[in-house]
Amino acid sequence: MIHDIVTQLDNLVGALQTQLFVGVIEPLFYHFGLMGYADDLYDSLYWVIVGLLEIAATYALLRPLEALRPLEVWSDRKALRTDVLYTWIAKLGLINLAVFLLLQPLFSHWQSLMVIYHVPNIDLSNRLGVTDKPLISFAVYLVVLDFAGYWYHRWQHRFGVWWELHAVHHSQQQVSMWADDRNHFLDSVLLAAYFAVISLFIGVEPNQYVVLIAVGNLLQSIQHVNARLPYHWLLERIIVSPAFHRRHHAIGYGHEGTRYGCNFGVLFPWWDMLLGTASWDKTVEATGIRDQLPVPQGTAREYGQGLLAQQWYAFARIGERLAGRRRYTSDVS
Ligand SMILES: [Zn+2]
Ligand SMILES: [Zn+2]
Repeated sequence: MIHDIVTQLDNLVGALQTQLFVGVIEPLFYHFGLMGYADDLYDSLYWVIVGLLEIAATYALLRPLEALRPLEVWSDRKALRTDVLYTWIAKLGLINLAVFLLLQPLFSHWQSLMVIYHVPNIDLSNRLGVTDKPLISFAVYLVVLDFAGYWYHRWQHRFGVWWELHAVHHSQQQVSMWADDRNHFLDSVLLAAYFAVISLFIGVEPNQYVVLIAVGNLLQSIQHVNARLPYHWLLERIIVSPAFHRRHHAIGYGHEGTRYGCNFGVLFPWWDMLLGTASWDKTVEATGIRDQLPVPQGTAREYGQGLLAQQWYAFARIGERLAGRRRYTSDVS
C-alpha cells in the first residue's frame, strides 16, 4: 500500500515537473539562449517540487499545533524568520545543488577508482535478499542511514571545530518547526556528501534516495515543533519525539552535561538507548548554548541574528579555537 502511495506521489511530482518545465522554464531558457542547461534544470526541478510539497505539508500539519498547544510562548517571533529562510534554501534543493556542483567530480573519481581497484559495492538489499521487496529494502536503508546519522551527530558535538559549525543549529533559543534546516552550509554540504557516499556504497537507488531524504526531513521538522504532543511512551521509543529532541537542545543537558551530551538520534532513539546516551526527562528547559546566556550564567556571546552573521561567526569561532583561545563547547570561564 505504501509502495502505491510512493508511486502516486512520484507520478504527481513528475507531472508537476513536466508542466512547470514546459509552461515556464523552457520558454524562459529558450528566450535567453540557455537551452544547453535545460536537461540539468529539468532533473533538479524534481527536488524543488519535493521541497515545496514538504514545506506545504509541514506547514499545514505543524503550524496549527504550534498555535493551539505551544510549549513555549514567545512575544516576538522575529528570531524565527532566519530559520524560515534556512528552510527555503534547504528545501529548494540549493544545498543539493552545491553538493552536486562541488562534489560530483570527486564522486565520479571515487567510483572509477572503486572499479579500477575492484572495491565491491555492498549491495545491501541484494545481500539480504530483499531486492524484490521495496518496502523492506527501504526500511533497511532508512535504519542504516540513521545509524550513520547518529554517529555524524555525535562527532559534531565531540570535535571542537565541528561543534562550532553545529552551534549554528543549537544557537536558536526559540526552537520551532522551522529550526530543522538552520545549519551551517559547510556542515550541510558535508552531511549531504556523507550520506551520498554511504548510499552509493550500500547500493541505494536514486528514486529511493529521494524518498529517504524526504521522510527524514519531515520527521526532523516534527521533532523541532514547539507544541505539546501526546507521544505514548512506546511510540517515543520507536521514533524520536519532539520532547526527546528538545532535551538535546536543552542548555546544560543536551550537549554539555555529561561527557558528550544526550539524545543524538536523528530518526530513531534506538542508538541512544543502545549506547547509553538517551535521556527521557521531560522537564521543559531553556534551549540554546550556555555562553549565550547573560553574565553570570554565560558570557552573552553573540551567535548572530541573520543568516550571514551566523555563518560568518562560526568561522570566527573556529579561528579562535585554532588559535587556542577557545575550548570545548560552552566554556564560560
Ligand atoms: Zn546537536
Ligand atoms: Zn535540533
